[in-house]
Amino acid sequence: MDSVKTLLPDSALPTHWYNLAADFPEPLDPVLHPGTHEPVGPEDLAPLFPPALIEQEVSTERWIPIPDEVRQVLLQWRCTPLYRARRWEEALGTPARIYYKYEGVSPSGSHKPNTAVPQAFYNREAGIRKITTETGAGQWGSSLALACRMFGLECLVYMVRVSFEQKPYRRAFMETFDATCIPSPSESTEAGRAILAEDPECRGSLGIAISEAVEVAAQSADTSYCLGSVLNHVLLHQTVIGQEAREQLEAVGESPDVIVGCTGGGSNFAGIAFPFLGEGLRDGRLPRVVAVEPAACPTLTKGPLAYDYGDTAHLTPLVKMNTLGSSFVPPGFHSGGLRYHGMAPMVSHCRKLGLLEARSFHQLETFAAGVGFAQAEGILPAPEANHAVIGAQREAERCREEGRADTILFNLCGHGNFDMQAYSDYHAGKLHDYDYPNEEIAMALAGLPSL
Ligand SMILES: *Cc1c(COP(=O)(O)O)cnc(C)c1O
Repeated sequence: MDSVKTLLPDSALPTHWYNLAADFPEPLDPVLHPGTHEPVGPEDLAPLFPPALIEQEVSTERWIPIPDEVRQVLLQWRCTPLYRARRWEEALGTPARIYYKYEGVSPSGSHKPNTAVPQAFYNREAGIRKITTETGAGQWGSSLALACRMFGLECLVYMVRVSFEQKPYRRAFMETFDATCIPSPSESTEAGRAILAEDPECRGSLGIAISEAVEVAAQSADTSYCLGSVLNHVLLHQTVIGQEAREQLEAVGESPDVIVGCTGGGSNFAGIAFPFLGEGLRDGRLPRVVAVEPAACPTLTKGPLAYDYGDTAHLTPLVKMNTLGSSFVPPGFHSGGLRYHGMAPMVSHCRKLGLLEARSFHQLETFAAGVGFAQAEGILPAPEANHAVIGAQREAERCREEGRADTILFNLCGHGNFDMQAYSDYHAGKLHDYDYPNEEIAMALAGLPSL
């Protein structure tokens, strides 16, 4: 019987990150200063980020070398396996061939360490001592905590309160690596105190947690801020996923007809899709690419493309992105990693250029798909990853109806072993679907900055 798993030797770990900005037919819109609304320069970003990351943020170089010290750490779990989902194909009765890249083998169980490690590395190189950040479901905080520990940096994590309460084990994970984890909104920052004064019961959001982390970082010269998604350099670091997947598919004589990923801020999706999109833009043979998001936080499917702030307190620069408005607080559904009001500018740009299709699904159908996948493949996906799973499933069902044997590739961006509360609630029938909160979004969009 043919193998279901394709592994690569250590020597196949990519030596470079791939930058899609080099191949866009139209350049990205500039990032604007929140006060002047003029394009920002490197000096505006210097209080928050080290020079190497700022350079990557604005780079249009196609290939950017991965430092040796970073590759040495990544090698601990990379290259990650690519699986053929044979039993799931059979269960779905589809003629399609489904492959998934499994990022759950990283130490924190998701794709996030792919960028946490280089971000910690470049900060240490720049003489930074402490890093602040936000985390939703806790995946990013966990990944940054361990990366900081590896490079001898202090780590302070603002965790969205609803997740802090739902996922206590994530905090224990972070504390194991000596990170400090504070529920957000908190009394420890001006941004947090302002929110709590208005709403003492506030469940928090990524936008609020970002404001708190940015505020703390901007106050001391030896402290930097790190973001786990959205920014160009974060998406760049994730492109090891797609580069490896391309090589693994080639090893079994395949190339994808359709690529599926879930989108919170867009980084794991970009990681798997951008290397293929870049190649398609260069040789004229573009695969279909599908971005899947929650119906309760429908950034790509319902949010307009507009300049907006990355955070609630409006401390960050303005970026052009699909957005639901920076004051939008999504309902407390279980995919904490997908509860962000905006989308990566590079992913938003792909949408504008017609390079991707966006879909949204409700919470219950994503869990049903994830359970079906787990029963066939034995891996329990993270609630976020269930969105990629249902996206791939819908493609497989289309193939069944059309009698087509497409090759489907999706990113299983993390396991759900820390998300048992969500699965318990699902099995107990306690999860429900949230309607798209039209009114709240309309209100948040009314607050978009006028330029
Ligand atoms: C953080 C996270 C996401 C959402 O972030 P992206 O930048 O869109 O990838 C999705 N899945 C998992 C498992 C995560 O940890």
